[in-house]
Amino acid sequence: MSPRVFIIADASVDSLGAGELGWIVASAVTAAWLVTWWIRRRSLARLEQTLASLDRVPEPEGYPLAESLHAAAIRRLRHERQRQERLADRLAEIERVLRATPIAVIALDHMQRVVSANPAAERLLGFEERAARGRLLQETVRQPGLNRFVSDALARDQRSEGELHLEFDAPLEVQVSCEPLHTESQPAGVVVSLVDVTRMRRLESMRSEFAANVSHELRTPITNIKGYVETLLQVGIEDPATSQRFLEIIQRNTTRLSEIVEDILTLAFLEEPETPHALERGDVAADELVARVVDELGSAAAAKSITITTECEPGLSAHVNRSLATQALANLVSNAIKYSPEGTAVVVKVRREAPGMAAFSVRDRGPGIAPKHLPRLFERFYRVDKARARTQGGTGLGLAIVKHIANIHGGRVEVTSQLGEGSDFRLLLPTEAPAAKAAQ
Ligand code: ADP
Repeated sequence: MSPRVFIIADASVDSLGAGELGWIVASAVTAAWLVTWWIRRRSLARLEQTLASLDRVPEPEGYPLAESLHAAAIRRLRHERQRQERLADRLAEIERVLRATPIAVIALDHMQRVVSANPAAERLLGFEERAARGRLLQETVRQPGLNRFVSDALARDQRSEGELHLEFDAPLEVQVSCEPLHTESQPAGVVVSLVDVTRMRRLESMRSEFAANVSHELRTPITNIKGYVETLLQVGIEDPATSQRFLEIIQRNTTRLSEIVEDILTLAFLEEPETPHALERGDVAADELVARVVDELGSAAAAKSITITTECEPGLSAHVNRSLATQALANLVSNAIKYSPEGTAVVVKVRREAPGMAAFSVRDRGPGIAPKHLPRLFERFYRVDKARARTQGGTGLGLAIVKHIANIHGGRVEVTSQLGEGSDFRLLLPTEAPAAKAAQ
């Protein structure tokens, strides 16, 4: 029998532990399947031959020893057939597992021709088992890295593990493991498993990027506070004017520190998996929500002689967590004030938008945002003009918070903007509870 190769790939395993476990299980299942299949194929053939030849032997009547030998042979063969049936059941069970598993499995022969593949393999590597059967792996999956990996494993005839980058339209990062198999003294095949770790790797890099950003954001105010406190300690507080100025700088920086920490904590809270289920929600009148935000930010607008006008569709309400919805709208209005020149106007409008959404629009006559920034605008710490945004006191997390709040409510946030004309941010929040919407 020719050696066979099995490729196993998990399309959606997020953690390294789960991934490793995935391909270990897959390897074991595939190995079991392969060995069971092989044994069954060989012994079934022998059994059928024996039964056929036994059928041809006439029953030895009148010869007690021959009769009992014949009966014993029949018993033995029946027992063997039952064993074969149990093996067949086991094989079918393993095959069901292989079909159901998110881990993809492809069987190749020693020439690397596809023998079989499960649905997960078809999905992950993008081919059809029926068309691929009998064709070379490198013809079926055009991934030089993977082909090299399998060839090496076959050549070395020992277990190999590694991580590969697969160049599909949406590139994949996969953990690969190749496990050669042997039945008796013959090489029976190789189990190769591929675990998709793309999402996990992306999360890891996002996490480290976030940690680097946080450290960077915290460093400036901490350095300022440290510097001014040390200077105060050295020069003393004899000069009240200088002391006052230094203390004000320290106060500004501590406020900034606490704003960053508050925003990070808010994001962490919004990202907790249980938050969407645990949130208290109720019907909040849209005009009341707008009035509250405008009231809160009235003094900031007045300081820049910015007028805020509001327009709310009467009787409209949103089914939201009041404090989060207020925070989301406040972030948008606060940005409109922050980034608009003095004496301009900000317009806040709310109207019903099908299906079941209240659209809160915040329109400003500020500098506008160039199209290239728009796709990344809602990312954490993304700023259009880094230096300017910092001097204006932003944390860089305001829009990320708005996006999370919208998502948690099953809504969304959008922006249209034109350089030199201004921006229009739209926050869409549901008007009804999700169950009520689904029942309609
Ligand atoms: P920040 O705390 O820096 O304001 P945000 O997440 O709220 O952070 O906003 C991200 C960036 O988007 C800002 O730094 C700014 O460059 C840009 N931005 C947000 N709102 C506006 C607006 N209304 N007009 C112009 N630019 C804006």
